[in-house]
Amino acid sequence: MTVERILSDKGRAVVTVEPDRTLAEAARLLTEKRIGAVVVSDKSRPVIGILSERDIVRGIASHGAQILEEPVSRCMTTKVVTCVGHTGVLEVLELMTNGKFRHVPVVEDHQLVGIVSIGDIVKYRLAQAEAETRAMRDYIATA
Ligand code: AMP
Repeated sequence: MTVERILSDKGRAVVTVEPDRTLAEAARLLTEKRIGAVVVSDKSRPVIGILSERDIVRGIASHGAQILEEPVSRCMTTKVVTCVGHTGVLEVLELMTNGKFRHVPVVEDHQLVGIVSIGDIVKYRLAQAEAETRAMRDYIATA
């Protein structure tokens, strides 16, 4: 099963923020949208970085709350691991586990076409496990 399947269920909208916005603005965006990370992009570059709630917490721990008035570019991660629509779901899970992050943007032809979070993958894996259990029960009942 590929990432494309998750995107076709959950949609392809990605919340983004420009690198010169403040961390306070980014934190409000994360709260309003009830998400854990935003992709940092501008008109010409679809993925300049990624900013997660962890980056903001780390920034505050290291520099104090005044860092919230600094730009997003100060705390974002710039080496972003991305995938494509036909990347396998298990492969993405492995990327997340090895890299210790919970979000992977989906990029195709230099365009940001979606984002997959660990929550999306857990939801998908649970649905798959339930379907398998149901199929086994049906098989046993009719055998
Ligand atoms: P997360 O677990 O996704 O909230 O992020 C944990 C850390 O990994 C933060 O420093 C993020 O900026 C960074 N991060 C999140 N997603 C990615 C990604 N796809 N590639 C590289 N770093 C990431």
